Amino acid sequence: MSNSIVPGTLYIVAAPSGAGKSSLVNALIKRLPFVYLSISHTTRPMRPGENDGEHYHFISAEEFIARADDAEFLEHAKVFDHYYGTSQKYVQNQLDLGHDVLLEIDWQGAQQVRHLMPNCKSIFILPPSKEALQERLEKRQQDSKEVIARRMRDAVSDMSHYEEFDYLIINDDFYKALDELCTIFVANRTVTEQQKQRHDALISKLLS
Ligand code: GDP
Ligand code: ADP
Ligand code: 5GP
Repeated sequence: MSNSIVPGTLYIVAAPSGAGKSSLVNALIKRLPFVYLSISHTTRPMRPGENDGEHYHFISAEEFIARADDAEFLEHAKVFDHYYGTSQKYVQNQLDLGHDVLLEIDWQGAQQVRHLMPNCKSIFILPPSKEALQERLEKRQQDSKEVIARRMRDAVSDMSHYEEFDYLIINDDFYKALDELCTIFVANRTVTEQQKQRHDALISKLLS
């Protein structure tokens, strides 16, 4: 029984640094095979344990600017003094294949994507407290004291954008937050109009 390819949905997940965004997204990707994570390009230095092409495409500022000039990025922004950008080609290819695509980007990038692709769904993640945020940044043991202080300073202005997002998740209990995140993707995947196209052959057989 052949199924029609229904273009996927684009999702944005944003949070202040240390709220648990990457941990939640990585767990979601393992649970939901139809979701594809976009690997951003960045000019920030690689952290211990990060690999080029897996966590980010690590590129120089010169290369980033050249690619931005060639309009290769769906969106790009400067976050904590470094450039970050999303590949337009990767996102479009995956959506055309019927995959849902997840962007882990900051609120500035989210504003750009919402403008370009108004059907996207956006999710903001908050930590349970400022103290928990600070503890998580320290526990991660990947950033210097100065970097952590900078991220804590920016957290309040990052969090002030929460109302621009369609969904809001508090990442206190990790598995509760993960369930809430997965539910958003599964619920959107079962919208009748999409399912009707995806399972057109099955439905016409059932109704014949
Ligand atoms: P972490 O969020 O603490 O793990 O720190 P990262 O270095 O991974 O990300 C730094 C900031 O850049 C965060 O606010 C991300 O959401 C943002 N970011 C990452 N990738 C992209 C991207 O492709 N585009 C945009 N606009 N922002 C991004
Ligand atoms: P982000 O990508 O938002 O910067 P991370 O996913 O790197 O955040 O998480 C920051 C740290 O907090 C990591 O060490 C992670 O294991 C931890 N963490 C994430 N979610 C929770 C949670 N619900 N409770 C306790 N620690 C958490
Ligand atoms: P980190 O340097 O800790 O990996 O990421 C810092 C912030 O940059 C995070 O909030 C992350 O979501 C954001 N970020 C990562 N990639 C991109 C991107 O491609 N575009 C935008 N706008 N932000 C990004």
